[in-house]
Amino acid sequence: MSEEHFKNVISHAKEYGFVFLSSEIYDGLAAVYDYGQNGVELKNKIREYWWKSMVQLHENIVGIDASIFMAPDVWKASGHVDGFSDPMIDNKDSKKRYRADVLIEDYQEKYRVKNQKEIQKAKKRFGDTFDEAQFVVTNANILRNNKKIAAIDVRLKEGLESGALHLIKELIEELEISCPVSGSKNWTDVRQFNLMYSTQMSATDGDNKIYLRPETAQGIFVNYLNVQKTSRQKLPFGIAQTGKAFRNEIVARQFIMRMKEFEQMEMQFFVSPGEEMKWYDHWKQHRMKWHLNLGTQSSKYRFHDHVKLAHYANAAVDIEYDFPFGFKEVEGIHSRTDFDLKQHEQYTGKKIQYFDNEKNESYTPYVVETSIGLDRMFLVLMSNALQTDDLGEGQTRTVLKLPPALAPYQCAILPLVKKDGLPELARKIMAELSLDFNCYYEEKDSIGKRYRRQDAIGTPICITIDHESITDQAVTIRFRDSMEQKRVSILELPAIIEQVVSMKTLLRGLL
Ligand code: ATP
Repeated sequence: MSEEHFKNVISHAKEYGFVFLSSEIYDGLAAVYDYGQNGVELKNKIREYWWKSMVQLHENIVGIDASIFMAPDVWKASGHVDGFSDPMIDNKDSKKRYRADVLIEDYQEKYRVKNQKEIQKAKKRFGDTFDEAQFVVTNANILRNNKKIAAIDVRLKEGLESGALHLIKELIEELEISCPVSGSKNWTDVRQFNLMYSTQMSATDGDNKIYLRPETAQGIFVNYLNVQKTSRQKLPFGIAQTGKAFRNEIVARQFIMRMKEFEQMEMQFFVSPGEEMKWYDHWKQHRMKWHLNLGTQSSKYRFHDHVKLAHYANAAVDIEYDFPFGFKEVEGIHSRTDFDLKQHEQYTGKKIQYFDNEKNESYTPYVVETSIGLDRMFLVLMSNALQTDDLGEGQTRTVLKLPPALAPYQCAILPLVKKDGLPELARKIMAELSLDFNCYYEEKDSIGKRYRRQDAIGTPICITIDHESITDQAVTIRFRDSMEQKRVSILELPAIIEQVVSMKTLLRGLL
């Protein structure tokens, strides 16, 4: 996927009512987005696919919906107050604040862009005989650029991992990185910047700082005892939750990839100590299956093991998708040990354990977490689905080939003309189908134009009502991907649509 394609995804998302910049008429709010009429449908469907696959298909997983606000000490116990931060640097002249590591990554990116230009140039020069794979491992300029990128990687990692932030400042100075706004190289030292947003709980008290949760996981941990007791679940069992999380990302960019307000879908799986690696492997495979079950090419996904583990983890892997800016995390699977429950035990003084009947002993369960960003998943699907089909004779069409079960509308109902009783029949069909499906009704413009509009929002089936429909009680249905058309009886419609768009078929792929 190219940068060009990514730009198309962003503009398509806006033009067709999927994603808008928040408060756009006020010039927008950086890194905060709103979902439009089609976006909200797709987002709800992704959430439904996740929820059903996790909760409905697993008798030992139950869901909760915890609040965004939590007792402030939760975030002390979890380590977020002290440790949830990014390295930031200010430019003294422009007064702009940056993520120090991102300034360096952007610098590296310039070399990647240079490489791309070399490749484009060579492509033009050599035409059909051009062998890109061979070119990138032999061209002197590309090799030199890659060496520079790799050397910077090593030093950046060293600074970040050791916590010696002066090393990062030195690197910025050595590379002569200047402020993108002012062009000045007058930098402050690099400092850690906490990513949690805070507000006041009450209007009257003095010290009543409260945080907006930066992850949904803690809502699950603090409810572990409540849920275990009331659900009578035995280990191993899981608690699932979807909901908003907030992070004051210093540099939020790449559209809905990195937002300040976003939604997570998380599942914490509680297991007996010693069994965590078995379950870690299990969830790793299962979650990859969930992604591939949507029909995305497997080469677009990969696992990426964490080299540096978070303070709470003894194993961690990301599921990455091939975005235009490279493979990036969509979901994390983490073996979180008993860290969180133990911390909450310590901070509250309450025993948070599991009584194992078989072993006749109490212990703190270990946790394996699967955590996926709903908005990032949305971006994966939009990027993967948006295609331009060549129809021959210089004709193309833009089509959003979303998995049919996730499409905003399952079908469109299109009377051929706005008269002769066709709209009335179409409305009758619509009234019946709307009980099961989200249907789009449209009677304006030529049928060809209407098909194209439905293609662009990913509607899997179009139903056209013509003059004959009134006498033969049959309609023409057209399939989005194949563009095949066939005549079917009105009575058959629910079953045909169901077969194409059903969430059930999608879920069955996971069994
Ligand atoms: P990254 O390294 O990209 O910042 P992370 O490792 O901090 O991500 P986690 O804390 O593991 O992310 O959160 C789990 C998931 O939540 C991520 O895989 C991602 O899909 C999503 N996520 C995290 N931060 C954001 C954000 N700022 N905007 C959108 N989604 C996010």
